[in-house]
Amino acid sequence: MNLAEVVGRWPVLRQLREGDPLGLGRAAQSQRSERLKPRIDEADHVVQSICPYCAVGCGQLVHVKDGEVTHIEGDPGSPISRGRLCPKGQASKSYVQSPLREYKVKYRRPYGTRWEELSLDEAMEMIAQRVIDTRAETWQDETEDGNPANRTMGIGNLGGATLDNEENYLIKKLCVALGIVQVENQARI
Ligand code: SF4
Repeated sequence: MNLAEVVGRWPVLRQLREGDPLGLGRAAQSQRSERLKPRIDEADHVVQSICPYCAVGCGQLVHVKDGEVTHIEGDPGSPISRGRLCPKGQASKSYVQSPLREYKVKYRRPYGTRWEELSLDEAMEMIAQRVIDTRAETWQDETEDGNPANRTMGIGNLGGATLDNEENYLIKKLCVALGIVQVENQARI
């Protein structure tokens, strides 16, 4: 690089020459930063979604390329979060793609010392059977005072923050139909 080039790259000269007196625009760019592109630049499409972690339900924009999630950021159009995400929401791409993500049901038997892998069908069958058995064993036709009860106090339902209104509605319907009266949730809007 000759002397003229070195002087020509001097920031003060660039600020004056490039009409950027405060050095906040082009004059502050290095050759490297000039070539940098946003990581969302090559996305095929963007999908609106909702952060899966907590009950706030912040809006997300999921950038996709070749069928793979390439980036997740806050959705400025969300009236709830207006483009913001907390660190958990910012990191939710790894929720999809982490090598640590589990794809099989893990089960540890009573007094077991290790995890076993179950198929989803097997796990669902076990849960359904336990609900049926517990309901039958703990069913109450009447309260202690002799009033009609038609309930089981042997099962409770505690929902998590990732459930939305519609899912909670269905869960509540299912619980009521089964006679389960102990139902709690931390619902998102
Ligand atoms: S971004 Fe954070 S605050 Fe918003 S829903 Fe996700 S976990 Fe909750």
